[in-house]
Amino acid sequence: MTQRRPGFPARLDLPAAARRPGSVVSAAASARHAQPSGVGLDSQAVRARMVRKLAEQGISDPAVLAAMSAVERHGFVDTALINQAYEDTSLPIGLGQTISKPSVVARMIELLLGAGRQADGRLGRVLEIGTGCGYQAAVLSQVATEVYSIERLRGLHDKARENLRPYRLANVHLLFGDGMAGYAKGAPYAGIIAAAGGDALPLAWTEQLALGGRMIAPTQMASGQQALVVVDKTPQGLKQTVLEAVHFVPLKSGIA
Ligand code: SAH
Repeated sequence: MTQRRPGFPARLDLPAAARRPGSVVSAAASARHAQPSGVGLDSQAVRARMVRKLAEQGISDPAVLAAMSAVERHGFVDTALINQAYEDTSLPIGLGQTISKPSVVARMIELLLGAGRQADGRLGRVLEIGTGCGYQAAVLSQVATEVYSIERLRGLHDKARENLRPYRLANVHLLFGDGMAGYAKGAPYAGIIAAAGGDALPLAWTEQLALGGRMIAPTQMASGQQALVVVDKTPQGLKQTVLEAVHFVPLKSGIA
């Protein structure tokens, strides 16, 4: 297997200080900005440690590990939570929603890439349901040609736009709307990834999935337990695989 790193359309290790006063900055940037001691944090090193842990937990796709290493998770959480940004934990992002744990983001993206990719090593167009703070969309931007990400809460859609702005990711398209209907204009998608869990997979998603494409979505099982479900669209039809139990915020209809 070729060990390709995805191309980076933009530098993602932009010093956070450039956009958020008082936040964690890289070692070089903290030297430049003379942060008080104890406040500065070499975010690249902390991220490298997070990535090592992800590899120990079984994430092996080099493109996923490179993407997790490139995206500053601390740029997507509130200033008060920055110290926890590289811990393997979900964190509140406002309006009752959460940013998923890094291990879950990496696992889902690795699964998404597992169905096959283009000759250049990338996934084609991807649809994300539940933009939240925009973190996962940024990670996806590193492994896919185009990312369409829908959010139903205006406050989070705006927040994601603001969080992502400094990175200038030309291949990320943020949409405000009800993701239950998918986004037909970007279809067909090589991958669909849901960051919120419903009782069933909306028909629109399977319709908008390309032949040979894969969808990953947390879904409520008959037992009441939520599990990660993988759906492959094959010439023989849809193939569904139920994986491990997960805890995602609920998929809701309508906008707010
Ligand atoms: N990927 C996000 C995780 C956000 S949590 C991140 O990296 O931060 C899941 C998000 O799904 C929430 O913001 C929630 O508002 C949103 N959501 C739930 N149902 C939705 C729907 N039908 N359409 C679009 N977004 C939805």
